[in-house]
Amino acid sequence: MVTENAVKEETIAKLPADKVYAALGSNVGGLSRSQAEERQKKLGKNLIEEKKKKSIILIFLGNFVHLMAILLWIGGAVAFLAGMPQLGIAVWLVNVINGVFSFWQEHRAGKATDALRNMLPSYARVIRDGEEQKILAEDLIIGDIILLEEGDKISADARLVESSDLQVDQSTLTGESNPVRKIKDAVLKDDLTKAETPNLIFAGTSVSEGNGKAVVMEIGMRTEFGKIAGLTQNMKEVQSPLQKELNRLTKQISVIAISFGVFFFVAALLLVKEPMASSFIFALGMIVAFIPEGLLPTVTLSLAMAVQRMSKRNALVKKLSSVEALGSTTVICTDKTGTLTQNEMTVNHLWLAGREYEVTGVGYSPNGKIMTGGKTVSASEDNDMNLLLTGAALCSNARLLPPGEESARYTVLGDPTEACLGVAAEKAGINVAKQSELTPRLRELPFESRRKRMTTVHRLQKPIEGTRLIAYVKGAPKEIMKLSNTIRINGTVTHMEEEMRSRIMDANDNYARQGLRVLAVAYRLLKKEDNIPASMSAYTPEIIEQNMTFVGLVVMADPPRPEVAAAVEECRHAGIRIIMITGDYGLTAESIAKRIGIVKGANPRVVSGLELEEMSDEQLKKYLKDEIIFARVAPEQKLRVVSNLQELGEIVAVTGDGVNDSPALKKADIGVAMGIAGTDVAKEAADMILTDDNFASIVHAIEEGRAVYSNIRKFLLYILNSNMPEAVPSALFLFSRGAIPLPLTVMQILTIDLGTDMMPALGLGTEKPEKGIMDQPPRDPKETLLNKKLIIKAFLWYGMLGSLASAFSYFFVNIQNGWPDIPLASGNNPVYFRATTMALAAIVFSQIGAVFNCRTEKQSAFKVGLFKNKQVNLGIIIEIILIFALVYLPPLQSVFHTAPLLLSDWLLLCIWPPLVLLFEEVRKLWLRNKKQAGSKNL
Ligand code: ATP
Repeated sequence: MVTENAVKEETIAKLPADKVYAALGSNVGGLSRSQAEERQKKLGKNLIEEKKKKSIILIFLGNFVHLMAILLWIGGAVAFLAGMPQLGIAVWLVNVINGVFSFWQEHRAGKATDALRNMLPSYARVIRDGEEQKILAEDLIIGDIILLEEGDKISADARLVESSDLQVDQSTLTGESNPVRKIKDAVLKDDLTKAETPNLIFAGTSVSEGNGKAVVMEIGMRTEFGKIAGLTQNMKEVQSPLQKELNRLTKQISVIAISFGVFFFVAALLLVKEPMASSFIFALGMIVAFIPEGLLPTVTLSLAMAVQRMSKRNALVKKLSSVEALGSTTVICTDKTGTLTQNEMTVNHLWLAGREYEVTGVGYSPNGKIMTGGKTVSASEDNDMNLLLTGAALCSNARLLPPGEESARYTVLGDPTEACLGVAAEKAGINVAKQSELTPRLRELPFESRRKRMTTVHRLQKPIEGTRLIAYVKGAPKEIMKLSNTIRINGTVTHMEEEMRSRIMDANDNYARQGLRVLAVAYRLLKKEDNIPASMSAYTPEIIEQNMTFVGLVVMADPPRPEVAAAVEECRHAGIRIIMITGDYGLTAESIAKRIGIVKGANPRVVSGLELEEMSDEQLKKYLKDEIIFARVAPEQKLRVVSNLQELGEIVAVTGDGVNDSPALKKADIGVAMGIAGTDVAKEAADMILTDDNFASIVHAIEEGRAVYSNIRKFLLYILNSNMPEAVPSALFLFSRGAIPLPLTVMQILTIDLGTDMMPALGLGTEKPEKGIMDQPPRDPKETLLNKKLIIKAFLWYGMLGSLASAFSYFFVNIQNGWPDIPLASGNNPVYFRATTMALAAIVFSQIGAVFNCRTEKQSAFKVGLFKNKQVNLGIIIEIILIFALVYLPPLQSVFHTAPLLLSDWLLLCIWPPLVLLFEEVRKLWLRNKKQAGSKNL
């Protein structure tokens, strides 16, 4: 019967491991599928219910009560009081449109990030129907048997039934960051809290070391984690530096806007002698014109869109803010195996005390031979080879899956380094499955990057030298040599002389120089007289891994990923440095680094973990400025490299997959975890997850990150550039002391700002990365979004073009009507209205040219395809429809003081978009030529 109450849970801790299955309605073969389904129907899914989110109405209303909105509410009210209800309504309408628009953008961005969250499902390994399976963590049910290994996230509360050096990080529950030891034995003590009970493990915690097996006893909201879930759900999306900068920017621009407003107010009062009320309204129009409405939500949306695009290119970004850091990354610290290389290992050589064998065949298919001197050899003919390959295969956890429904090839479950050992053994004629049955594994000292080796203890069928216990160890040759004092040569065990040690290292280095990966295998017969403890749980690496007999080397190829060399080259162009930090051997690392172009020098500096340990920070910093490779480093040491790089002012992206990589992943500006080979713990610590473990995907993500930043600039440039043509007419009016009648009314300014300008601007936020974006050095993170260059370009260049177009069009109508002799601005003069309509329409039309210009920074707009951005095209169409409506619909005419235009007016207007485009194209061409000439001169 399934336990449903806490009393029963406590008794479960007191049961011996073998009684736990039945108590939780399970058995050693796990639940059957139908049992699991039936239980799920009754108990539901293993989910932590989300706390109620903030009400959508409150979020909506939030867009109407921030500082700028309040200013606009007040401005509108003043307009009403001053007897201009139309303007009051317009200003309020601006506020409403802006609020609704912001809400809509935010909502879309939220949806995009939610969708992303669902792309990161978590899985659990279970035994069901007697077989190991991978299921969604939400489908776990009471009675399921879960398998745990280092780095796994635990997804339900469970009672251990097997454990091997298991340590669990329970900090999410207890706040205690030191890992806690967990055992499978019954716990009879009564005065322990649940978290202190050593045979219970809990949802939300993770395995920091060792492995184990446990039976689920609680799921979902009834787990300890579920009970306190409310507390952990208060995580707020913190504002990214970019969003903060934009906030500051909006405030800065608002201050500028208000200063302009005050200036125009005073000028209108004193210079033109306008009455107080109309001067105020005039100033209010200026203020509204300058405020960049919709900036923040648009930026959030374009970040979210970039995140979606990245996910299609195998990079899942967990936080929007990471996108910016990606864009300014200056150094990528990457591991080698699996990220730069394919992690598809194939054993191609064996080395046994001077005898060398070639292994043929590709991939994981066991079709191949072991050859020497052109002859095929099988394990049965060579005792040492038999021992080498049997030891290597038994000391592995990976499983080989034969071709089937899922794949037409042999595939691997587990670590490829281990899988290829089994394949080589099969090629030598060893039946690995049978061997594992005949020599069952009793104990495992799991692989750790720090130890660079793994050991297993097995029971032999027949005793050898009076014992049936044998330990096999495999790992980095230097490490294994340190543990060995004897070596097997042609079936006899002899003392390992210094000369032999250097022969082994020479062989190792020879292979490594070819970029091959080398593992050594040794064994030890565990005899009572050698003080081997009786209890297997007392076996520690210190006790077991000594006095070993060296057997030989297994050499494997792990070719670089084909796309990596190009990605490395791209980084070089983009001014991004790549530093390889690997656990593998220095010469192997160097050879691969050279092959894919990470290092160009003939003798790059290769720093080993040991050297790194002894190096001072000053020395390290000095070395970090040049080409460098870190080899044989422990994951913990990555943190130091990252910190030192950051102290040098670099923006660092770092890759990692293991539990011990977490500190470096967290410290880095961008922590990148591997989606396939990575542990849950690494994924949790990272900012970005690569679904294909591929280095090239990091480079794609950086490209997108850069594109977002430049898109935001494009958007900003566009919305700022209409400010000038909006302000210049008023300035003309003021400084001519009214001799030039006001070319643009306040209502018309508002139309441009919110009506016509918004839609094309939005399109700019969705531009694809521009060609050449990866040919520039990384962005200086200190550089502000609104820099001098952008201000000059927006106000003085684009702004000037728009102002000229507007002024020209305005005078075009006026002069036709005999200006300056006619009193234009008096009353409802249709001639005056036609002229102001022209000024308005000219700004809108020159903005059409400008939006094409803003799409690229240096490239020709024609080169990227003038009409390629559908959102921009749609924005332009809406813009044109709006201006027609304003000009021809009588109700709008009366509100916005517009009048129908003549055919000749329209013809003139049609000149502006191509002309504005042309001017900018010429400037861009000049810029490109200048750059080319500059690079030729270098
Ligand atoms: P990278 O750090 O680039 O991923 P790596 O896989 O070589 O490279 P680690 O996983 O830290 O780095 O492994 C360190 C070393 O330990 C390896 O170079 C190898 O010699 C040894 N090793 C790797 N996997 C195993 C294993 N499953 N069993 C025993 N030894 C191993």
